Amino acid sequence: MQPFVYNALPARVIFGWDTSEQVADEVLRLGCKRAIVLTTAQQVSSGQKVLKDLGDLGVGIYSNATMHTPIHITLDALKVAQELQADVCVAVGGGSTIGLGKALALHSSNEKKLKQIAIPTTYAGSEATPIIGQTEIDKEAKSLKTTQRTLNVLPDVIIYDINLTLTLPTQMTTTSGLNAIAHAVEALWAPEANPIISNLALQGIKAISQSFPLIRKDPKDPKGRSNALFGAWSCGTCLGAVGMSLHHKLCHTLGGTFGMPHAETHAIILPHAVAYNAPFATDEVEEIRIALNLQQGISAAQGLFDVLENNNIPCSLKELGFKQEDLRRAAEIAVRSPYPNPAPLEEEKIFHLLSNAYHGIRPA
Ligand code: NAD
Repeated sequence: MQPFVYNALPARVIFGWDTSEQVADEVLRLGCKRAIVLTTAQQVSSGQKVLKDLGDLGVGIYSNATMHTPIHITLDALKVAQELQADVCVAVGGGSTIGLGKALALHSSNEKKLKQIAIPTTYAGSEATPIIGQTEIDKEAKSLKTTQRTLNVLPDVIIYDINLTLTLPTQMTTTSGLNAIAHAVEALWAPEANPIISNLALQGIKAISQSFPLIRKDPKDPKGRSNALFGAWSCGTCLGAVGMSLHHKLCHTLGGTFGMPHAETHAIILPHAVAYNAPFATDEVEEIRIALNLQQGISAAQGLFDVLENNNIPCSLKELGFKQEDLRRAAEIAVRSPYPNPAPLEEEKIFHLLSNAYHGIRPA
């Protein structure tokens, strides 16, 4: 056994079917009395269901959560929360909504800090991390994404309700599942890797990859949906526990600077990031291959690429509307400041990786 250091994060996790009905008990358990529900415009009905479950403890709903946590939305939501005298926010949704809950906790942390209950409905994993990314428009009208790690944003409670994930469209299910797998993949080769997190990572990859064919056949398949959500927790916990490398850096750049959609971008980049690192992380890549249950002769990178093709997901950045002329700038940003990664970070090779992702070429 290699020596290691492991810092566990505090977590209260409630997992199962119809668990969101316990939300009022959790609000009281936190010593709170006035809960504001957060959602996106697309998930108002899920938010309203949770507001109903809150009974007298629910004071209102804010339904304008937006991807990449723009600061002007956070300030708007904070104003509403303060007007309603909310003492806890209940985020019902994917990473965008949970990001808004985290941002509210952060921006209120100097005064009366809002507590947070996260009810995730995608597999992005944000609920299990002390990480927040926020975007701001600078003077030249460019979007700037900054990320920080602080316990101030870690949700107090996570309620995983499998029922709320049954409506997740199948394409989003696959891209979001691959987003989760990406956390686990990079956790395996993180400098802080440790046996607990590596076990969770492999368990997460296995649970999510096994769920894909079940959900493709029947989007409401109980085993598929419950495996996927359990895998999301495992993988999100990995993201919260150890540092990420090239794959996340590239996706952060493509999302934050070029406005690419989060889960779809992760899904496209992952096979190429795995191929880039494979010669320098042979043991980990073999473990990933086994967890994905791939036939002999198919590499982990190819297996991850095939998930896209088998599920009719865009395989290329081109299909997402990325501009070919921006590939060079993205590669430059990815190597601008050093960070740990199994393979050396070389701009020309990263440009090549991004070009392959742009054209949707299956890794060799
Ligand atoms: P999302 O939250 O933007 O959701 C995408 C769309 O799917 C939204 O319209 C949403 O309302 C809808 N949706 C979500 N769940 C649904 C369901 N069950 N049924 C029907 N519709 C549903 O997408 P995401 O990929 O979950 O999150 C992306 C955001 O999360 C990005 O801003 C990313 O930076 C952030 N993120 C942060 C962390 C972190 O640790 N800080 C981790 C992962 C992702």
